[in-house]
Amino acid sequence: MKKIAVIGSGTMGNGIAHVFAQTGFSVALIDISADALQKAQATIAQNLDRQIKKGTLTEAEKEATLARVQPHTDMATGVAAADLVLEAATENFELKKKIFTQLDSVCSPQTILASNTSSISITSIAAATKRPTQVIGMHFMNPVPVMKLVEVIRGYATSDETTKTVMELSKQLGKIPVEVNDYPGFISNRILMPMINEAICALYEGVAGVEEIDNVMKLGMAHPMGPLQLADFIGLDVCKYILDVLYTGFGNPKYAACPLLVNMVNAGHWGAKSGKGFYTYQGKEMQVSQRFAVK
Ligand code: NAD
Repeated sequence: MKKIAVIGSGTMGNGIAHVFAQTGFSVALIDISADALQKAQATIAQNLDRQIKKGTLTEAEKEATLARVQPHTDMATGVAAADLVLEAATENFELKKKIFTQLDSVCSPQTILASNTSSISITSIAAATKRPTQVIGMHFMNPVPVMKLVEVIRGYATSDETTKTVMELSKQLGKIPVEVNDYPGFISNRILMPMINEAICALYEGVAGVEEIDNVMKLGMAHPMGPLQLADFIGLDVCKYILDVLYTGFGNPKYAACPLLVNMVNAGHWGAKSGKGFYTYQGKEMQVSQRFAVK
């Protein structure tokens, strides 16, 4: 594989483009928004600068990496001659279905089509194409240049050959791939989201405060970040969306989102990105939201 196309240049797309380009791949970075593409290129440059400061990258390597990322607003031009297309567009099934149908018609028959989705069924995305054996999940973690895991998700029809290629490719990027099957939440979110939901339920029931819950998990279980802070960073809207996928997918009430989470999402308190969640965020300042402050 030499050429990769990445669809969507947001949080995940720019990180994925960064890692592929730094490994030596030629990367077409595609977005419907020219503004998003510009921001993505600036973010990649900033993140490469951080690596230079740490002494893990030279200025020449940075320039070579940046030169390997070509921005495109036209998908068909961007994906031309790509060996693998990695979709990291907004988390919405209808959108992804549309993108994969288009990709199937414009990409060469050999091209592997991968999705970075956190929660949408790979099997359903693959069904929008005529090449379901070549459709797979390649779930990177945020921030992509730092996190080692790639959750490789086999759809119902994904072939052994496609899986093997993507596992090898992930290793080539310096990542550690883990193969899982396509069921709601895969493994990562099937385990993470119920833990976050339980932490929110404990807060809702008054068992302990925000910092107390986070401290138990940080100090007692060696988690680098407590579940409530992590939920704020992931986005409470995203957490609720994924819990709903688990709830519907398994038809099991144990995945029902805590009423407190539902209220916070409805109120627009979505965590770090909205400035308010279990904590409030002003610049680099973070403190427990007034609402949850111990009185
Ligand atoms: P984001 O909102 O930061 O970026 C999405 C980008 O997709 C935007 O720039 C948008 O303009 C672009 N886009 C929308 N429609 C498009 C189209 N038709 N063609 C091309 N580009 C299009 O989203 P994100 O957080 O980077 O998430 C992207 C994907 O990665 C989602 O499927 C999400 O579930 C998954 N994911 C996110 C995280 C995370 O922590 N943010 C972690 C793992 C996986």
